Amino acid sequence: MLKFEDIPLNPKVLSAVAEAGYETPTPIQAQAIPKALAGHDILGIAQTGTGKTASYTLPMITLLTQGRARARMPRSLVICPTRELAAQVAESFDTYARHVKLAKALLIGGVRFKNQDTLIDKGVDVLIATPGRLLDHFERGKLILSDVKVMVVDEADRMLDMGFIPDIERIFQLTPFTRQTLFFSATLAPEIERLTRTFLSNPVRIEVTRQATTSEAIEQSVLYYDETRFIDTEGKKRNLLRQVIDAEAKLGANAIIFCNKKKDVDIVARSVTKHGYSAEPLHGDLSQEQRTQTLNRFRDGRTTFLVASDVAARGLDIPDVSLVINFDVPGNPEDYVHRIGRTGRAGKSGRALTICAVRDKKKMTAIEKLIQSKIPPISQPTVQSGAGQKNATPKHRPAHNSDETTPSAGKRTEKHNSNSHRNRGHGPITEVIEGLPSFITKSFEERRTGYR
Ligand code: AMP
Repeated sequence: MLKFEDIPLNPKVLSAVAEAGYETPTPIQAQAIPKALAGHDILGIAQTGTGKTASYTLPMITLLTQGRARARMPRSLVICPTRELAAQVAESFDTYARHVKLAKALLIGGVRFKNQDTLIDKGVDVLIATPGRLLDHFERGKLILSDVKVMVVDEADRMLDMGFIPDIERIFQLTPFTRQTLFFSATLAPEIERLTRTFLSNPVRIEVTRQATTSEAIEQSVLYYDETRFIDTEGKKRNLLRQVIDAEAKLGANAIIFCNKKKDVDIVARSVTKHGYSAEPLHGDLSQEQRTQTLNRFRDGRTTFLVASDVAARGLDIPDVSLVINFDVPGNPEDYVHRIGRTGRAGKSGRALTICAVRDKKKMTAIEKLIQSKIPPISQPTVQSGAGQKNATPKHRPAHNSDETTPSAGKRTEKHNSNSHRNRGHGPITEVIEGLPSFITKSFEERRTGYR
């Protein structure tokens, strides 16, 4: 097996890698780093969690140790779709370049131009930027891109989702065609493929299959529920979520809970907080500072449940996430892959649970088609009068100060018996829900392997 020492990286970079605790290169690193060092363009098809950041930062640092930056003329460029990803890439640079002297600037929106200008004026070796802010600087005449020797595009598929492709094309055109290009995307949509054909020169294509990364490290399951049986379907869904969380909290798990809409991110975060857990929302309407602080609190364990929109789904390096919960099935199957990629990172095992209303089953099917595997459903205990109740008898949970207030478990049973002919309302299904926590806990506990 290839070791880091077998790769002709700068010895100071190798020391930093050893200090970061990495023993062997990940598959994308083993394939990409030697090729990048040899000057090839790279087309990396890989998602986060595969070690792709180091697969381009390590050779870049090695290459940049030769030469010096001139004022306003960065020698390398890393373009990231989101501020969070850009900030993380900057952190990776700091880690891997700790023993070499390289100047770095982070150009992201939501931060004042002045400090960024000062850094650029001094001359930077590595410029890490989001496309909009980079072009803003360029248009203000503060930045010259004609000395860029290496350009990285990270998470190109996300750029596509966010409408950044024209900006990326423009940035490509502003840099010299002799540059080396390292291009990463989790998927190759036709638009992305077109971009790579236009701007990459005879690239080495390296694919770290998604199949392997999702199915091996992440244990996935889906919890179907029949929303047509509820009057307050969203309330019931939060109720379901809470019961999953109750079970998970007992296992000492932390989780990222994804919602499709920002509005729901806030509602769910409030609901989880109201039930006594530390939870915080993370979405694009929050200021950069708020987002960074929220992430830091989640990273260091002060916040147990991060409720997030898809803004947070990609590129964020949050170690030790035990579980990803999809409160909503994502509309775009690709987002599913990115969301669950927050767990099972860097060799750890992880779990992903999707709560799926029956009406969203089609979306689940699209996801299964994309990942080419069936996601096992957590079957709900069947509640039939008499025998069924024995299995599904609700455990008495402490009464929560619920925003989806329900009567006590005992009353529910009564109601179920007297209303079992109805398929709307709170009768039979409430028992099914009540039966879930122990079921989920049991099934997860049985299968749980070494996380946290
Ligand atoms: P990335 O896919 O770049 O977001 O990296 C995912 C995580 O893997 C990060 O936390 C890295 O610190 C970690 N990582 C990267 N390369 C290695 C390696 N060779 N060995 C162990 N962990 C690594």
